[in-house]
Amino acid sequence: MTEPTTNGVVPAVKATQVHKAFGSLHVLKGVDMTVMPGSVTVILGPSGSGKSTFLRLINQLETLTGGEIDVDGEMIGYKYVDKDGKQVLQTLNDKEVAEQRSKLGMVFQRFNLFPHMTALENVMEAPVHVKHMDKKEARKLAIEELNRVGMGDRLDHYPAQLSGGQQQRVAIARALAMKPEIMLFDEPTSALDPELVGEVLNVMLSLAKEGMTMVVVTHEIGFAREVADQIVFMDGGVVVEQGGPEIIDNPQEPRFKDFLQHVL
Ligand code: ADP
Ligand code: MG
Repeated sequence: MTEPTTNGVVPAVKATQVHKAFGSLHVLKGVDMTVMPGSVTVILGPSGSGKSTFLRLINQLETLTGGEIDVDGEMIGYKYVDKDGKQVLQTLNDKEVAEQRSKLGMVFQRFNLFPHMTALENVMEAPVHVKHMDKKEARKLAIEELNRVGMGDRLDHYPAQLSGGQQQRVAIARALAMKPEIMLFDEPTSALDPELVGEVLNVMLSLAKEGMTMVVVTHEIGFAREVADQIVFMDGGVVVEQGGPEIIDNPQEPRFKDFLQHVL
């Protein structure tokens, strides 16, 4: 089940020939991607290219149509079992799915905070109700995570009393409170007014500097150039070009060149 790379490090995420279809709509057509622990991967690509679907597959919000995704060396969604000397494909049970998912934190374009709960209560919610942490401990943890995203002075504010950028930082704190090994970001700044984008990107930058493993779908090319270890350009459900951040300034594939001309 575990497939270490040649240098002995197990990838945080390894996707192999990932396919996803919604009925007759073939959205992902054989995506390969390797994310090393402590690295930042930025996925770029036009709308409809399958970026969100790919992140949702990693987090098991969708099921695979074909191929394989391993998180931390463990196959997600499916596993092979030995049965009478044969390898048989079997889906993971709910507990195993939950275990794998607990390694991942996800931040969406829309912050999805609970409107009737304060920032502090939003961040405490999952540690208390999913991890059954006692309230005092969860409160301490939530305050730490809110401080980490620069929201320590807004503990008792409700989402409606916060700007979009502040809400998104609370959403990041909420994901961090579950102590994920990998953070997935799906266009975290796309719904924000331009003047609020920077504060969210700064939080993401500091997370990257702390060594968090991150997979980020974004159109923020400046962030990609500055923070990414790996750039993956997707179009039409396949990876068209991938490499270090230098490929942004020296794209090879015509589709990637064209995309960059439109976003820069
Ligand atoms: P991106 O995030 O790159 O914009 P998506 O992964 O959201 O792309 O979508 C890729 C394609 O898959 C789009 O054509 C979209 O309409 C389709 N799609 C996404 N989710 C579903 C779904 N649950 N059912 C049917 N089609 C879907
Ligand atoms: Mg998307």
